[in-house]
Amino acid sequence: MSMYDLDLEKVIKKIKDINASLVGLQFPDGLKIHASKVAEQLESETGATVIISADPCFGACDTAHSKMADLVDILIHYGHTALPLDYPVPVMFIEAYSQVDVNGALEKSLELLQGYHKIALATTTQHLHLLEDIKHFLEVNGKEVMVESGSSTRVGQVLGCNFSSIKNLDVDAYFYLGSGNFHPLGIKLFTHKPVVIADPYRGEARDIEKFADRILRIRFARITKACEANKWGILVSSKEGQYRMALARKIKQNLENEGKEAFLIMMENISPDLLLPFLDLDAFVATACPRIAIDDSQMYKKPLITPQELEIVLDKREWDNYQLDEIYFGEE
Ligand code: SF4
Repeated sequence: MSMYDLDLEKVIKKIKDINASLVGLQFPDGLKIHASKVAEQLESETGATVIISADPCFGACDTAHSKMADLVDILIHYGHTALPLDYPVPVMFIEAYSQVDVNGALEKSLELLQGYHKIALATTTQHLHLLEDIKHFLEVNGKEVMVESGSSTRVGQVLGCNFSSIKNLDVDAYFYLGSGNFHPLGIKLFTHKPVVIADPYRGEARDIEKFADRILRIRFARITKACEANKWGILVSSKEGQYRMALARKIKQNLENEGKEAFLIMMENISPDLLLPFLDLDAFVATACPRIAIDDSQMYKKPLITPQELEIVLDKREWDNYQLDEIYFGEE
């Protein structure tokens, strides 16, 4: 049915066990293509009615439970691991492991790993089930392999906002299995060690160096521009897992202490269109998902920076100590 393991039997059993009559269903955008088929199967196997969330969803920070709280008996959330948050309705997290063939990318990565002996592994939710196999593969090829757990993450897992599983490890290099460059960029910036990416979707292996250089150049330009800003917007997301009001208020205070004007602005999804009407503001700080400022940077007319980048603007952090923003769930 799909390139992903949707674990329908487990979901059906759960719906029957709690005798749910209305079931919420939520997918990240990449899996929404399966929504109607999953809904159809759940409805026919359990007799429950399913309601599908169409809002964009990028992480477990973003479950549809508050919108569906008075409505559904359970929310089935696909594609992410649970975070330590309180949910007013039962939420079942189905990690949706990818069935993509990783062997070609693994083989190709060996060349890039030459010269490194001690390797730490990291991946995202979709491939967590493969970590043991990858560890074994690298060990057979003469490597010493480490996989660690982090705060709010599973063993070997990195989130775009949480790199605790890879920090402070005594290794020569990092090995990342997955698509995209954001997670390996985070590993690079937090560890300053070489990062080799095995990308099974492209069937290739690459390192992160060039991409990291490019992003740092863009960030430097944004930070430099933001140094001229006098009127600031501090963006707070109403999504439970991205809501950092205490941090936003602290930032407002810091900016005001420096003689700047600063305004708290709340929204659910941060988007360039929503910021367009704030013509009088010179720059923005995003306290929501740390990826927004980095991934979508080109789409914003005004500088949109992270809290750590603001520290550089305010001379409270050295550029050499540049770091990505992180969220430690349940701690704020
Ligand atoms: S805050 Fe961003 S990086 Fe963190 S889990 Fe949510 S979407 Fe992913």
